[in-house]
Amino acid sequence: MNTKNANETPYKTYLSENELPAAWYNLRADMKTKPAPLLNPATLKPVTAEELEHVFCRECVRQELDNTTPLIPIPKPVLDFYRMYRPSPLIRAYFLEKALGTPARIYYKFEGNNTSGSHKLNSAIAQAYYAKEQGLTDITTETGAGQWGTALSMASAFFGLKCHVYMVKCSYEQKPFRREVMRTYGADVTPSPSMTTDIGKKINAEFPGTNGSLGCAISEAVEAAVKMPNARYLLGSVLNQVCLHQSVIGLETQAALRKLGETPDVIIGCAGGGSNLSGLIAPFMGEKIRGEHDYRIIAVEPASCPSFTRGKYAYDFCDTGKVCPLQKMYTLGSAFIPSPSHAGGLRYHGMSAMLSELYAEGLMEARAVEQTSVFEAATMFARTEGTLPAPESSHAIRVAIDEALRCKAEGKTETIVFGLTGTGYFDMFAYGNYNDGTMSDYIPTDADLAAGFAMLPKVD
Ligand SMILES: *Cc1c(COP(=O)(O)O)cnc(C)c1O
Repeated sequence: MNTKNANETPYKTYLSENELPAAWYNLRADMKTKPAPLLNPATLKPVTAEELEHVFCRECVRQELDNTTPLIPIPKPVLDFYRMYRPSPLIRAYFLEKALGTPARIYYKFEGNNTSGSHKLNSAIAQAYYAKEQGLTDITTETGAGQWGTALSMASAFFGLKCHVYMVKCSYEQKPFRREVMRTYGADVTPSPSMTTDIGKKINAEFPGTNGSLGCAISEAVEAAVKMPNARYLLGSVLNQVCLHQSVIGLETQAALRKLGETPDVIIGCAGGGSNLSGLIAPFMGEKIRGEHDYRIIAVEPASCPSFTRGKYAYDFCDTGKVCPLQKMYTLGSAFIPSPSHAGGLRYHGMSAMLSELYAEGLMEARAVEQTSVFEAATMFARTEGTLPAPESSHAIRVAIDEALRCKAEGKTETIVFGLTGTGYFDMFAYGNYNDGTMSDYIPTDADLAAGFAMLPKVD
């Protein structure tokens, strides 16, 4: 009997556990121009490791500032934890291809198969491990949509750390189940802005009744970490170290594609702070920079928070309270408060310094897409491929579909790979709005953006 699948490639490609990468890949080592250094907001001089170590864990600081080591071994306890939910599958989207009638081959790397529901666990477990190893007892963080807080709560429970989460107030109220998952893992969750920090009190006094923002929650979490003995602050995106940990996504994708004998033409990912995208593209971008192979790489962002496509490449504050170092990045200004778009994870005003530099050098493209067209793509994906995608991830689906339709129009058999970063289970409010036809698209005007740019710090 012929048991061979008639398809060219299987629906799902898993690596074996032994094929999990043993080291993260540090793309900065291959970049000709390195990301600009973080600056101390008081002196405007590059921050030193010692300064950063007041806020972040020692080993994370070392990784943050390491622009030269290409491969950084994954510690065994982290690798063991990865084995519980990794490798994640690379899936051929046969049903979506068929529905689109495209000659393109579409693959997606699915990171939503763990309880936290997204790729953020890849960095959470690494950062929690380094905190534990340093002998810390408490960690603080912020969460917007809730995915990072959930991932870090899981990771903290695993290593016996107490996790304090500042959750953006509107999200705290809209997503009670997210909150309860975090509390079940032992974290305490405080709506931000709160009255438990100086910066929270100040923001509450200045903007009574505010719904909060990510930049504000970051300031509160940093303040709490600095004031608490034996605690540090952990961040789930934007930073170099987070991009480094997420390279596990790209390394697995590269290995799985090699098994299939496939080479991608286009690689697509959604971009909030840029961590999943940098992770997915890292090994491919490395080949591109080294001149070994060319790929088209596309970052997708919401039209409501368009850091790449309409932002400025400049030094800016990472948080509202201006306590974090200044970072050179594509930014809308730390004072920019995006409209309450549902893709909570993509609402940050800035972008990874590494991706910003790559984009400035023309090594990747960026596209901004509107929310209703994102949910249209999400719905098509759910109905064809079965998986309910997170709204953030659906930005990548939107552009993957657009690229597949371009291939159809041009009669091209290209290979498209995109990152499906998470599940949409906690976003049913947003799906409800879309299904009811009450979702709207908000695009900031040039005047809205100018107000944010006017507040950029003067650095030369
Ligand atoms: C947080 C999040 C994102 C965006 O964050 P990046 O750092 O840009 O990767 C995208 N998708 C999901 C599901 C998320 O939780």
